[in-house]
Amino acid sequence: MKNPSFTFVEGKRKYLLYTDHTGSESVEPLIRTLLHRRLPFEWHVAEGMKEADMTYWLSSQTIGTYLYLAGKRELVETGRTAAYEAGYSDDEFQTLLVGEPMTRIFCTVCEQLSLVPKKAQVICAQCKAPLSVTDHFSPRLQAYLAYRPISLETKVITE
Ligand SMILES: [Zn+2]
Repeated sequence: MKNPSFTFVEGKRKYLLYTDHTGSESVEPLIRTLLHRRLPFEWHVAEGMKEADMTYWLSSQTIGTYLYLAGKRELVETGRTAAYEAGYSDDEFQTLLVGEPMTRIFCTVCEQLSLVPKKAQVICAQCKAPLSVTDHFSPRLQAYLAYRPISLETKVITE
């Protein structure tokens, strides 16, 4: 599997790159492209900007600004929420989660595949069900099987 990377989007007025230290490496190819094409961009390396500050920063940008977010889960999630609040739509920004090993699972609750952090207990990216990841790898699905923990299942039945 190749490393996830950003896709360069043509024709934007300005490019904003926001990363933490783990995400800075992943924007290097992008910066090379931007420099080569002499496009206006700003790159911020920061840790833990507050969501409200981030929303303010994003709303004060020129219309036609494109945003790239790369880093740890916290930065990516704060950034995504702030981008939505600042009025950015899904086709005006990209996110990249780095520094966290990911694995493919098959959720037996919604019967869909999802990419989740490599842990024993995860949340299904599709149906948001809490799941226990097993060691059973399905060659057909190319994913590990994940089940709703027994205790939760019992709880659901008695509700
Ligand atoms: Zn699911």
